[in-house]
Amino acid sequence: MRKESYDFLSRLVAAPSPSGYEQPAQRVFREYVAPFAQVSSDVMGNVLAFIKGGRQEAPRVMLIGHSDEIGFQVKYIDDNGFIYFGAIGGVDPHLTPGQRVHIHSRGGTVVGVIGKKPIHLMEAKDRETVVKLDSQYIDIGAANKKEAEQLVRVGDPATFAGGLEKLHGDRVTSRGFDDKAGSFVVAEVLRKVAGAAKKLPVDLYGVSSVQEEVGLRGGTTSSYTVNPDIGICVEVDFSTDQPDVERKHNGDVCLGKGPILPRGANINPALFDLLADTADREGIPVQFTGIPKATGTDANVMQISRSGVATALVKIPLRYMHTPVELLSLADLDNAVKLIAATLYRIKDKRVFIPE
Ligand SMILES: [Zn+2]
Repeated sequence: MRKESYDFLSRLVAAPSPSGYEQPAQRVFREYVAPFAQVSSDVMGNVLAFIKGGRQEAPRVMLIGHSDEIGFQVKYIDDNGFIYFGAIGGVDPHLTPGQRVHIHSRGGTVVGVIGKKPIHLMEAKDRETVVKLDSQYIDIGAANKKEAEQLVRVGDPATFAGGLEKLHGDRVTSRGFDDKAGSFVVAEVLRKVAGAAKKLPVDLYGVSSVQEEVGLRGGTTSSYTVNPDIGICVEVDFSTDQPDVERKHNGDVCLGKGPILPRGANINPALFDLLADTADREGIPVQFTGIPKATGTDANVMQISRSGVATALVKIPLRYMHTPVELLSLADLDNAVKLIAATLYRIKDKRVFIPE
């Protein structure tokens, strides 16, 4: 991966963006794509970047990746200054105790830790069970409620601390790859096609959406705004090459073996064929899965927007989804960018996506 792209990825995942509070990440996206795309934002907080194609009445293509990440929200501060919180999106209560968190408040970042009873003091039966999220609390070091309230307000969002870090080879870890990896791929496709000598045969919209983790909300409104003929959603997917994930659930998909192309009701068969054939022609590795229902992604709401959209999903294999140590391969990101960019040049006529 190019250094500038890696730096962009690093800034994007470092910027806090729990659902409903995405603008720090959206600012990073906006700033990156502004030199080569026409950028606008909507009232939901979605960022839309447009590149005009070289043809009259060209098909409208929309790419989407969501910028929001899971997180927490301050709900209650007790008399001793301990902060109780709710989950933004699918937070696993198994892994929150003992973590460092950042509360994003008016005055900036407040560092805290999620406290936990020492193991010595736990009863045997409690070692077998999870402490409910409702009973977990953040300690910011405040002596009492008054001190805590000077730093933190009810409603402030919080995230796990920590950003991008390199592991062995091309593997990296961060919180928030779900789905800032998708936003990243969308931005990189825009950069690539904007810089290419050949003009696109389509009008292209790249959307960094919001509020996906709390009900596909930004994807719903931005699909309505863009009104695309064709849509490609870039999301993360369960890599099944970790010891405790069953291959029976998501097939045999691994890190580093390329983006995943699912088939199923949510995927337009002709668009799937075009992506798979392009991968084949260009020598880009891809993997395949079956999703026999509406996917839990922005591709779902995009497909059934207005009178329907020819939709596909390009997914990035990811280990440890919704943990602070999500893990992926940079090559899979690069290959997703290559695949989508090459596919865009092969879209000529929107009518070929109507099944017959
Ligand atoms: Zn996601």
